[in-house]
Amino acid sequence: IFMFKLTCVRFKCSLTNTILDVLHQRAGWVEVKEDGEWDFNWCDVGWLRENYDHSYMEEHVRICHFRNHYELTRKNLMVKNLKRYRKTLEREAGRLEAAKCDFFPCTFELPSEYHLFVEEFKRSPGSTWIMKPVARSQGKGIFLFRKLKDIMEWKKNGTRSEEQRDEAQVESYVAQHYIEDPYLINGRKFDLRVYVLVTSYLPLKAWLYRDGFARFSNTRFSLSSIDDQYVHLTNVAVQKTAPDYDPEKGCKWQMHKLRLYLTAKHGSETVEALFKDIDNIFIRSLQSVQKVIINDKHCFELYGFDILLDQDLKPWLIEVNASPSLTASSQEDYELKCRLLEDTLHVVDMEGRLTGREKRVGGYDLMWNEGPVYREDVSLETLGSTYQIPNTHLGCVNDRKKQLRQLLRPFPGPKRA
Ligand code: ADP
Repeated sequence: IFMFKLTCVRFKCSLTNTILDVLHQRAGWVEVKEDGEWDFNWCDVGWLRENYDHSYMEEHVRICHFRNHYELTRKNLMVKNLKRYRKTLEREAGRLEAAKCDFFPCTFELPSEYHLFVEEFKRSPGSTWIMKPVARSQGKGIFLFRKLKDIMEWKKNGTRSEEQRDEAQVESYVAQHYIEDPYLINGRKFDLRVYVLVTSYLPLKAWLYRDGFARFSNTRFSLSSIDDQYVHLTNVAVQKTAPDYDPEKGCKWQMHKLRLYLTAKHGSETVEALFKDIDNIFIRSLQSVQKVIINDKHCFELYGFDILLDQDLKPWLIEVNASPSLTASSQEDYELKCRLLEDTLHVVDMEGRLTGREKRVGGYDLMWNEGPVYREDVSLETLGSTYQIPNTHLGCVNDRKKQLRQLLRPFPGPKRA
């Protein structure tokens, strides 16, 4: 077998935050400006749209998005794919199996599903809904409502007259059941940001990062002030504009701290069940687009999953980001993102140091490899039968340095050229 060995990795990067720092610091990697040839491209989705379809990529080249990443990361398409997947499961595997997809709030796309939405709206009088533009981020354009007349204003501005209709596309929104009873800590709402790396869709190969964080709202939760973004939206981009935001304290808890807190409060059995339910969300949502995403061995994707917990400790999928923020909001956040990105590059393995059979690389644990991945070192024996334990460790200790030392031989660098 011909083994391609790079003596130096030429990279391009369209961002100027932590990822560029990590790439600059990586031994044997050199930045390429403008039109130079490259082996690795941390591109943005705009670059992908313009260049992917008419560029030839050599065998060893890697880029950080799949061509149609939006199938999972645009709010309306994610729900469409999940609904279809749930239907297929119901047909092929039955109700019980399909019910494992019930982790996203009831959602309709507007304006196309307006009538379906109104039907559902009337079935649950008094409940709260959230309206979100499908392709924006950082909480932009989002509002909550309880009465149909509250979206009339939006409808008037959003939909255009007959003549205007051809000129500009109406911006699509999703109307979604608002989770009215979020799990609160110190009276505050939060959501979880979890990182999942996909290195292949066919077969599906996905890695779960141990670190992540909870993003807290700065203001006590209440359902009486539905117009107050600081209460209801946990995006850092929103919270950091709050008048009483303290940049030193920030609004984040590391996943490890959250796991310890929940374990102290509810016991390890409950918390393990919760994290198992969260794993289920990652796998099912990736499977829902497995046949839709254009699989290409040049591509990988680092997803940021947003998960919300309700008072019964049920996890809900809010959205999936293909370009999770790599800008750091504090020193601690910077260090987490550097660890995450370094390990992402270790898994992508431009240096060719791995065997391809690894179940762990730094802070990443292999979660799915055509099927569930189990831990080798432990199994539970109950009533004579053995249960295998999933190989995931979200919020557990991340002793990545020690593990990486054992795993990686140093990259030879340009000398061997
Ligand atoms: P964006 O892409 O603009 O960040 P999100 O869908 O992530 O949009 O929503 C922003 C925030 O609004 C979330 O982080 C969460 O705090 C809150 N949110 C969104 N959808 C819901 C929902 N269905 N129920 C409760 N809170 C929600």
